[in-house]
Amino acid sequence: MRWLRDRRRRRVARRYRVSAGAWSRAEAALPGLRRMQPAQRERLAATAAALIDEKRFEGLAGVEVDRLAVDTVALQAAVPVLELGLDWYAPWTTVLLYPAGFIATHEYEDEDGIVHIEEGPLIGEAWEGGPLVLSLEDALAPEPGSSVVIHECAHKLDMGQGTVNGLPPLPQGMTVEEWSAAFLPAFQTMEGYAAEEQEGSAPIDPYAGQDPGEFFAVASETFFADPRRLRRAFPAVYEQLRRFYGWSLD
Ligand SMILES: [Zn+2]
Repeated sequence: MRWLRDRRRRRVARRYRVSAGAWSRAEAALPGLRRMQPAQRERLAATAAALIDEKRFEGLAGVEVDRLAVDTVALQAAVPVLELGLDWYAPWTTVLLYPAGFIATHEYEDEDGIVHIEEGPLIGEAWEGGPLVLSLEDALAPEPGSSVVIHECAHKLDMGQGTVNGLPPLPQGMTVEEWSAAFLPAFQTMEGYAAEEQEGSAPIDPYAGQDPGEFFAVASETFFADPRRLRRAFPAVYEQLRRFYGWSLD
C-alpha cells in the first residue's frame, strides 16, 4: 500500500504545478521561503501537490475555491510536514474555507456536567477528527509574522497523541523531559502577558499564553513566519521546534 501511495504522490508532483501567485502569497507570509534552495523548493511543491490531491477543499458562505486559494493554503500547510511527512495529516481529510473571520459557536461540558455555549470570532479552527477550518482572507494574507494555516496545522500535529496540550508525538531522539524544560517556562512567561494583554511588549503573540496548546501553535507559526523573533524570545523552544520540524526558515 505504501509504495502505491508513494508512486501516486510522485506522479501527482510531476503533473501539478503550484501557481506563481500562490508562491508569492506564501512567500509574503513566510519570507524565509524565498531563501530556499531549488531542490528543497521542489520538495515543498511536491508535498503541497500531494496534499491537494489527498484533501478535499470546500468553500463555505459563498467562498469560491479557486486555484490561488487551494495552492496558497496547501503551500503553507506543507511547510510543517516537509520533513515530518504528509502522513501526519492522515487523521483529517477536509479543509473548510470561510470568506473572512467567522463566528464560531462551541458547546462544551465542564467538570460539573454543565454545558456551556461559547461564541466568538475566529480566523481558524482545528477539531479532533474534524476538518481544518480557515478564514480564506487570513490564509491568503496573514498579519506579518503569523500564519493561521501553520497555526491550525500545528494543532492537528498536537492532536497526534490525543488532546491538544502542546505536546505532539515526538520524533525519535527527542524527549518529553527536554521538550517540557524548554516549553514550560516559556509558556509561564507568556501566561503573564496573556493576563495583562500587553500586546506591544510581548516577546511573541500574547495569545500563546492562553494554554500550552495555543503556545505550541503560536510558537510554531512564529518559528516559520518570524524565526528570529522566536529565537530571540525563547531560544530553547526554537531549538526544540527546529528538531521537531526537522528544518527551519531562518
Ligand atoms: Zn489555536
